[in-house]
Amino acid sequence: MKQKRKQTIALIAHDNKKAEIVNWALKNKTTLEKYDLCGTGTTAKLIAEATDLKVKRYLSGPMGGDLQIGGKVAERKIDIVIFFWDPLESQPHDPDVKALLRIAVVYDIPIATNRATADYVIHSTYIEN
Ligand code: PGA
Repeated sequence: MKQKRKQTIALIAHDNKKAEIVNWALKNKTTLEKYDLCGTGTTAKLIAEATDLKVKRYLSGPMGGDLQIGGKVAERKIDIVIFFWDPLESQPHDPDVKALLRIAVVYDIPIATNRATADYVIHSTYIEN
């Protein structure tokens, strides 16, 4: 029988939100352990260092990491996106950010763009792993 793959969560945070996502990951470490994790370069590195969780690293966001994650969403390889974006600062890769937000809607996957929503998503009974 083919084994069901673990669900995959992608983790991304803009610079002013990195401390917040690391803190959130630490708080939710036991839940996150049940998933395959990935993230944009710096976010993935910081979360892996702080939590000891294995987090697959894509390129840094401004270098195409958001687009790589968007591509995996389109391939149905990423099931949930936790994306703490910064609403108070413009980003050089804003078109990539928009593309990721768009593709998550196209494929109807949960995409949490702030901590409150991330808490709802991670504790949702709709998610089985
Ligand atoms: P980073 O990318 O995790 O490599 O900093 C995040 C982003 O800016 O989209």
